[in-house]
Amino acid sequence: MSELFPPKRLEALSRLSAFVPKSGRDYAAGRNYDLPDQGHPHVSQLSPYLRHRLLTEEEVCEAVLGRYSLSTAEKFIQEVCWRTYWKGWLEMRPSVWADYANFVSGLEHDPKIISAEAGETEIEAFNAWALELVETGYLHNHARMWFASIWIFTLGLPWQAGADFFMRHLLDGDPASNTLSWRWVAGLQTPGKHYIARSSNISKYTEGRHNPEWRLNTQAEPLSGPPHPERRPLRPSGEVQAGLRTGLLLHEDDLAPGFLLDAVTDPTVGAAALLSPDRRSPGPVSEKVSHFVTQATEDAMTRWQDRLGPRGPVTASAEQIVDWARAEGLEQVVAPYAPVGPAASSLRSLRKQLDGAGITLVEICRDWDIAAWPHATHGFFRFKKAIPDLVSNLARKAA
Ligand SMILES: Cc1cc2nc3c(=O)[nH]c(=O)nc-3n(C[C@H](O)[C@H](O)[C@H](O)COP(=O)(O)OP(=O)(O)OC[C@H]3O[C@@H](n4cnc5c(N)ncnc54)[C@H](O)[C@@H]3O)c2cc1C
Repeated sequence: MSELFPPKRLEALSRLSAFVPKSGRDYAAGRNYDLPDQGHPHVSQLSPYLRHRLLTEEEVCEAVLGRYSLSTAEKFIQEVCWRTYWKGWLEMRPSVWADYANFVSGLEHDPKIISAEAGETEIEAFNAWALELVETGYLHNHARMWFASIWIFTLGLPWQAGADFFMRHLLDGDPASNTLSWRWVAGLQTPGKHYIARSSNISKYTEGRHNPEWRLNTQAEPLSGPPHPERRPLRPSGEVQAGLRTGLLLHEDDLAPGFLLDAVTDPTVGAAALLSPDRRSPGPVSEKVSHFVTQATEDAMTRWQDRLGPRGPVTASAEQIVDWARAEGLEQVVAPYAPVGPAASSLRSLRKQLDGAGITLVEICRDWDIAAWPHATHGFFRFKKAIPDLVSNLARKAA
C-alpha cells in the first residue's frame, strides 16, 4: 500500500513544487474547503514535513515568493508564519505546555473520551474526522477547528484530552501549534473569544458532505482560565567552540542539518539522533507517527551521510547517546535548538548526563527563529507586521 506521507525530503520538495502554482490567489479562495475525497486539493499538506523541518519555513517562503509577490501569496505566507508565531509564543511561556502535559498525565480512563476517539458519537461528521485522523495522520485545518469545537462545546470533554488525541495521531503533531490552537478554539488563548462550529459553515465547506444540523451546541460560552503567564526571555542560541572534538545530534524538531554543519568549522566525528515521538504523550502514540519520525530521521542521516561523518546510534535512549559520545572521545555535541516540547525535554535530560561526563551540549538556533520569535510577544496581528522584513531578509540571503 502506498504511503500518504512518505517520510522523505524528496517527497516534501516535489509536493512543494507541485503546490507553488496554487499558493497565490487560489489558496486564499479555496483553503477553507475540507475535501478529503479529492485529496485536499486546495491546501499544501506540507505540515508533516514542516513540523520536522524536512523542509523549512524559509524554503517554503522562498519557493512561493519566487513565483508570486508577497501581496499575491500573502495568505499562504501568513499561514506558514502562524507556525513560527506559535513556536515563539510558547517559547516565551513554557509553563503553558507544562500545565497541559501535567493535566494529560493525570487523565483517567473516561468512556466518553474513548468513544469520541473511536468515532462513535452521534455526530456523523465528527466521527468521520476522528477516523480520518487515525487512518491518515492528517486533518484539514477547518476540520481541526470544527472537531475541537465540537469536542469542547458539544461533547463537553476537556480540551487537553482532545489535544492529546491529536498529538498521538497527527504526523504534524506540534506542541506549540496544537496546544495553542486548541486553547484558541476553547477561548483561552484570546480570552473571551472562542470558536463555535456551525452546521451551515460545515455544510458549505465540506460541499454538503456533512450537515450535523441541530446536534451542535452553538450557545456555549468560552472556557475561562488563569491569565497568560509572564513572558520569559528567549533562550539564546548556543555557541560552538572551535578546536573541540565534536559530534552532531539530530532530533525530530529539525531534520535539515545543513545549518549545523555550517556552524561547526572543525571536522566532526560523526552524528547520532535522539528520537522522542513516544514522549509526545503519556498514552500510546500511533505507529504512523513513530514510523514517520523514525524514517524521516533516517532520511536526514542518509542524505547528509557524506558530511555528517560516521553514523552513531539513532535511538530514544539518552544513555546510548552518552555512551557513543564517550566512546568517540567527544568534547562537545552540537544539536539544532529544540523549542518547548518532547525533544527539548529529551535534550534536557541528555544535557545533564553529558555534563556528568564532561561533554557540552550546544543547541544552535536557526536565523529564521532568531529573527521571528522576539515578535511573538502578543497576538498574531502584531507579529504579522514583521513578516515583510522576515521574508525580505530571506530574499537578500538567497541572492
Ligand atoms: C485544533 C487545531 C490543532 C492543530 N494542530 C496542529 C499541529 O499539531 N501541528 C501543526 O503543524 N498544525 C496544527 N494546526 C494548524 C493547521 O491546522 C495545520 O498546520 C494545517 O492544517 C496543516 O495542513 P497543510 O500543511 O495542508 O496547511 P496549509 O494550509 O497548506 O498551510 C501551509 C503550512 O502553514 C502552517 N500552518 C497553516 N495553518 C496553520 C495554523 N493555523 N497554525 C499553525 N501553522 C499553520 C503549517 O505548517 C502548514 O503546513 C492545528 C489547528 C487546529 C485548529
